[in-house]
Amino acid sequence: MVKVDVKYTKLFINNEWVDAVSKKTFPTINPQNENVITQVAEGDKADIDLAVAAAKKAFARYSAWRTMDASQRGLLLLKLADLIESQARYLAELETLDCGKPVRDAEEEVYYSVTVLRYYAGKADKILGNTIPADGEVLCFTLKEPVGVCGQIIPWNYPIPMLSWKIAPALAAGCTIVLKPAEQTPLTALAIAALIKEAGFPPGVVNVVPGYGPTAGAALTNHPDVDKIAFTGSTEVGRMVMAAASAVNIKRVTLELGGKSPLVVFNDADVEKAAQKAHAAAFANAGQCCCAGTRTYVQSGIYDQFVEKAAEIAAKRLVGDPFDDVQQGPQIDKDMYDRVLGYIQAGKEAGAKCVAGGDKMGDKGYYIKPTVFADVTDNMKIAREEIFGPVQSILKFDTFEEVIDRANDSNYGLGAGVITNDITTALSFAKQVRAGSIWVNTYEHTTSQTPFGGFKDSGIGRELGEDGINQYLEIKTVTVALPHQPQLL
Ligand code: NAD
Repeated sequence: MVKVDVKYTKLFINNEWVDAVSKKTFPTINPQNENVITQVAEGDKADIDLAVAAAKKAFARYSAWRTMDASQRGLLLLKLADLIESQARYLAELETLDCGKPVRDAEEEVYYSVTVLRYYAGKADKILGNTIPADGEVLCFTLKEPVGVCGQIIPWNYPIPMLSWKIAPALAAGCTIVLKPAEQTPLTALAIAALIKEAGFPPGVVNVVPGYGPTAGAALTNHPDVDKIAFTGSTEVGRMVMAAASAVNIKRVTLELGGKSPLVVFNDADVEKAAQKAHAAAFANAGQCCCAGTRTYVQSGIYDQFVEKAAEIAAKRLVGDPFDDVQQGPQIDKDMYDRVLGYIQAGKEAGAKCVAGGDKMGDKGYYIKPTVFADVTDNMKIAREEIFGPVQSILKFDTFEEVIDRANDSNYGLGAGVITNDITTALSFAKQVRAGSIWVNTYEHTTSQTPFGGFKDSGIGRELGEDGINQYLEIKTVTVALPHQPQLL
């Protein structure tokens, strides 16, 4: 077992490390062996109040942050990116310890997150309004200004990338932040908080308060001094967040929620390559991915061959100690482990054909065998609900029209993929499927420059790209009377 030094376990408020007001702590668990890694300060309403007050002060009119040149904000983000990059291996190991993902994936995620910070660093001094030829004797222009104090709530599946998606555009825009990491994975957010201070961000600009959802998370979504909530997590909690965000004031809200994304393979595809892509789409991050391609629709001409390949690839997937060279570690926690095993059972009971896996693995840690179900039908629970585990459901289809209807028959609309060599099929698919990201002959290709988010119950708003920073900006219209004859003023 790799020994990883855990340096930060307190709340990070106003650039200081503090205990919770209640002095309470909570355990964070290693999903590999179910042992407690360490105790972490447990933030609650009183701590959120302090953090929001610090963020509000940092956002005050003449504060160091508000009067800072936009280009300087960009430089601070670049400095933070450099610091994170310099600690990539350490942060990756800390992440693996806390959330069980293979360390090489965790390391890639750190480097990816650095690209997000650098992308938005470049945007900080390129936030432009418009001049508008408004009717009347006026000069009219718009200013784009930071939204204000942002509450940011993130999940456990990609802790560092999710943190980067949240803080980078908010900081580039000039907002201040109270971030609540998921209770399962508080450690890397705290380690990065230390780097935020080291980079030179003024006190109160970023505050990190670990704690549970119904306590710390709810306090943030209910807080009258929070101007915006950015949330990533389940659709169920997203509904609560949205309601709370309008209870005491009208907060701006962006939500990145769940999915049940279709990946459609047409007869003309290379079966081996398509099966590999579909496998990666379903099993990346042990299936704990909001845009996982978990509904694999395969056209009837290649269906049997495809199922055989998919089962073969899943059976060979390397599952084990995430500090070793494996493809999959344990699921995040006991709740998710039980939930995923429950779905596997439901798939069997509904009559789907389990062609790979179908069970837990070992007696210690939350390991589940990569599981493939064939002959899945649209009404089965495993085809309709988000499983969030290593389970692929394969469904057969005949025609283009039929599969578009079936792909769209979901309350979710986060991602969708198509594998075909026919450009008309690919582009018609891209136009007709209602989802925020469409991938053609690839899957889950997400970069700093391209917006990401959901249609329907998969969310509101977009993260990343130009659209991502716009969600942290208010538009102010300035109209100046400029009569043609100035003496009339
Ligand atoms: P979750 O919704 O339970 O928790 C997410 C975060 O919300 C955590 O920080 C949690 O503490 C907090 N939270 C819980 N209850 C809250 C409340 N009442 N008020 C405020 N905050 C609260 O989800 P999870 O189990 O941690 O993550 C898995 C889910 O997240 C999946 O459904 C997945 O699809 C979704 N997800 C979506 C995306 C995306 O980009 N769309 C990305 C990752 C995960």
